Amino acid sequence: MSEVNYWKIPLDKLPSRGTKYSKDTKIEFRCLTIRDLKYMAAMTESNAREIVDDILRRCLRLTDLRFEDILEIDRLTLIFYLRSNTFMLSNSYQTEFKCPYCEAKVVKTLKPGDLAVRKMEDSVSGSVTIDGGCKVVHSALKKITDPVYKTGDPDVDLILAFTDIDKKIKSENLKDFILNLPADEFSKLLHLAERAKCGILGYADLKCSKCFSDLRVGIDLADSALFNRIHMSTMIRNRVQVSKYCGVDLDDDMPYNEVEMTISVVNELAEKEAESLNQKKNNPGVRR
Ligand SMILES: [Zn+2]
Repeated sequence: MSEVNYWKIPLDKLPSRGTKYSKDTKIEFRCLTIRDLKYMAAMTESNAREIVDDILRRCLRLTDLRFEDILEIDRLTLIFYLRSNTFMLSNSYQTEFKCPYCEAKVVKTLKPGDLAVRKMEDSVSGSVTIDGGCKVVHSALKKITDPVYKTGDPDVDLILAFTDIDKKIKSENLKDFILNLPADEFSKLLHLAERAKCGILGYADLKCSKCFSDLRVGIDLADSALFNRIHMSTMIRNRVQVSKYCGVDLDDDMPYNEVEMTISVVNELAEKEAESLNQKKNNPGVRR
């Protein structure tokens, strides 16, 4: 592979502000390549987390920080850096919803910066006792390789994401254990997790473009929805078109931001060519 460009991510842009990493920590990233996107084409709901983490591992260059020690609350922000720099021409999220006030159908283009974020410094740590006073559960910041629980119950998921209960309680079914706690213990636990919660939140505060009401809109942050998925057929069509117009082959190691630019230039050239052909056809000139 030829020389690859890496860009530095300012640590103070992360929800943790980098305060849990060493003072010499540096996080840099490169853009996704065609090869990365081909790998991602195999993504399904069940392997999405694994594939996104593999991509993140490939694209990050870390100094004085192990990948395993990246905090979970910083993960989405790192992904958004990759995403917005890889898809320069198509990096925005489209979100569509119905305004509850005027019932207009609103289509908004979201930038990563539009998503609500709670910084780590605004979260509150603490502990509670459960199990009749037998077990102390602390608020916790998870690491990127810690288990991620999707139990189908948002309260249980929140408790598992921001406390160390999974390390304190040895239970086959943590969801059932949590849901079967006495009501006061459950609410103490939930309160602990709510206060500890930080990172990118799953909503954006927007305005309706018709009646200008303030709206809070939920955004899908599932791993399978985080990156633009480029179909294999599109990639092949791009390759053929670029080769036809530029006489060059798109290399699998080419950063996708360059691919996007190349394709947009090629499309422009193709359009101009079609236009001039059309003009010739409609106006063949005067024969003498
Ligand atoms: Zn409205």
